[in-house]
Amino acid sequence: MFKPLLASLLTLAVAAPAMSATLDPNQAQARDIFSHLIAFKTEIGQGQVPVMAKYLADQFRAAGFPDSDIHIIPHGETAAMVVRYGGNGSGGKPIGLMAHMDVVTAKPEDWQRDPFTLVEENGYFYGRGTEDIKSGVTVLAANFIRLKKEGFVPTRDLVIIYTGDEETSQDTMEDLVKNHRDLVDVEYALNTDAGGGELSESGKPLVFGVQTAEKAYASFELTTRNPGGHSSLPRKDNAIYELADALKKVQAYQFPVMWNDTTVASFKALGATTQGKLGEAMRAFAKDPHDEAAAAALADEPSEVGKTRTTCVATLLRGGHADNALPQSATATINCRVFPGVAIDTVRKALQDQVGPKVEVKLVGKAIASDASPLRPDVMAAVTKAVHSIRPGVAITPIQESGATDGLYFRAVGIPTYGVNGMFMKTSDAFAHGLNERVPVKGFYDDVAYWHVLLTAVAGKPGAK
Ligand SMILES: [Zn+2]
Repeated sequence: MFKPLLASLLTLAVAAPAMSATLDPNQAQARDIFSHLIAFKTEIGQGQVPVMAKYLADQFRAAGFPDSDIHIIPHGETAAMVVRYGGNGSGGKPIGLMAHMDVVTAKPEDWQRDPFTLVEENGYFYGRGTEDIKSGVTVLAANFIRLKKEGFVPTRDLVIIYTGDEETSQDTMEDLVKNHRDLVDVEYALNTDAGGGELSESGKPLVFGVQTAEKAYASFELTTRNPGGHSSLPRKDNAIYELADALKKVQAYQFPVMWNDTTVASFKALGATTQGKLGEAMRAFAKDPHDEAAAAALADEPSEVGKTRTTCVATLLRGGHADNALPQSATATINCRVFPGVAIDTVRKALQDQVGPKVEVKLVGKAIASDASPLRPDVMAAVTKAVHSIRPGVAITPIQESGATDGLYFRAVGIPTYGVNGMFMKTSDAFAHGLNERVPVKGFYDDVAYWHVLLTAVAGKPGAK
């Protein structure tokens, strides 16, 4: 997933200036890779991720990366890919660089242009995956190739980690972390699939977000059971009534207020530009997170409530089996978004405590808890340098996402992960997962340049340009 940071007001879109036709060789190479990648239909079930990985492997090989540093790890119809740029080791443990090769399914008949052809038009690149996140796959590959050409020797290994099912099961990332740890054992990771820059509707850079935390996703089923019987002979106890009682308790319950470095820093930054009572609450919370009135005001806003606590909400309901029978069971699904650092079982226990021992509370599917990553000064300094190389002076702030990316699998095993996508976009241009997905042409080439600065900052000789 990849999405812009802040919701801004929509105003009239201003047409971007026409792109100059002259590209430097690095830009031309990046564009060529980008257009190839968009053409692979890497939706779930198409089996095209391994084909795309093979194309990428050819590019790395042609640039001088040895076969022994290029790994394609098949996983059902999809695959993961790991490419190591060997360093001299003087700078410490490797750094991971993340993107995913799969895209959300696109129905060509609903699109204005073919989603699997890169189209440049009116200052935009159109195509499925342009925003989420084949641009990320491209900028990492293009910069590995460029740096290799330039003779760059990193002070520590740089390890590209391309996954193959981020938009669906996220099994490839889980598999890499569990079963191929030697390939991806990094000190920390930089993720293209989160964070990024926000432009105003008139194209002015507003803020750059570094995603340092994401909430875990966990669904629980609440089930009540009963011997049932004929509905003409109702008993006092009833699975549906008891489930309804349990649901009212879940509705009334609020998880405790929580915060981390990112919560405080992001409310400080957001509070500075948010008007009215909400802005007041953000500023008060940033000043003192124990301020209960501020926390309560934030909890009243659907867009803010999840930033300061775990949330759980009823989403599905089923029960009974006939009009004229007493229900033998009733089940509700409760979807939770778990605050970083909170164990999934802690949430299950809290729900169980609320609904009492007669209601079964069961986790459905997998749920991975993840910690917030600490704000490492070295990472923040490198990101600041890279952001300011393309957008001088823009404010940089850590953010926590309510959604989840592959990054949570690293955070869950103690590898800090930072979402630092280098694209600047307007909120009104964000169509990731939707129709007519696009990125600004300038944003794409800036993103290519940004990663060159970022990679040489985290793994270059100290003081070198
Ligand atoms: Zn994504």
